Amino acid sequence: MSEGEQLTILIPGSTLSLAGFPDIPFTVAPTNSNFKLFGEQTMERILAAIASAALLAGIPLFAQGTFEKDLIKTSAGPLEITFVGHGTLMMKFAGKTIYIDPYSQLADYTKLPKADCVFITHQHFDHFDGKALAQIRTDQTIFVLTPACAKEFKKGIVMKNGEARDVLGVHVEALPAYNLVAKRPDGTPFHPQGEGNGYILTFGKTRVYIAGDTENTPEMKALKHIDIAFLPMNLPYTMTPEMVADAALAFKPKILYPYHYGETDTGKLVALLRGVHDIDLRIRKMK
Ligand SMILES: [Zn+2]
Repeated sequence: MSEGEQLTILIPGSTLSLAGFPDIPFTVAPTNSNFKLFGEQTMERILAAIASAALLAGIPLFAQGTFEKDLIKTSAGPLEITFVGHGTLMMKFAGKTIYIDPYSQLADYTKLPKADCVFITHQHFDHFDGKALAQIRTDQTIFVLTPACAKEFKKGIVMKNGEARDVLGVHVEALPAYNLVAKRPDGTPFHPQGEGNGYILTFGKTRVYIAGDTENTPEMKALKHIDIAFLPMNLPYTMTPEMVADAALAFKPKILYPYHYGETDTGKLVALLRGVHDIDLRIRKMK
């Protein structure tokens, strides 16, 4: 490298903007092959080491890009969904800002709005990230989280699978999120049943299902009246495009966003749902 040249380290999960093309952010995917090779725990350590080395050297990990947004009409006013990437969403509704699984490798949260409420689906590092939580919280921020996350975080509203309650005027249902077939080499599922939550958030009359890290469980396939669904699609941790299509055809969300999809070819899901006219499949940058 010659003097004055900038070194950019591509961190999986980070969002970058190309110089000269500030409007085209792209995300470096946490590649499945890396995670498979090293395991999630080791990868977490490698990523943390690269991040702190880069920080010490004053190298920016990412430049904040513009995120894609969708505006959804509800009976109680507009719902704005910002697609931060991977499993991270930001929603604005009735003047409140809601985050789901904010992950610090995807954005500079000091430049994003503070959270009125944060939902955490489970305790894995790409969903439950202390750095991101510290950057978006205020004294008033409400956290909704699983029993396992609450053990560590020691704050917030704990919801178990099957529980329901209202948070900031939004009805919240916690659903099971777990693996049926995908397991670690030692035979334990990546996401054991009972640990993780998916959430259905009801805005006005619009029901939004954020599935968390899960497969196409019987509970998911039995869902009714879902307007918008976020279904995860990366291997080996969550679903194949075939499993996402199977679930979607069972509970028929009006709008389907695959998310948390890593390097999975979203074109496969498009092909599987071709000709299905009652599901509006929307592909956003949610690697
Ligand atoms: Zn995940």
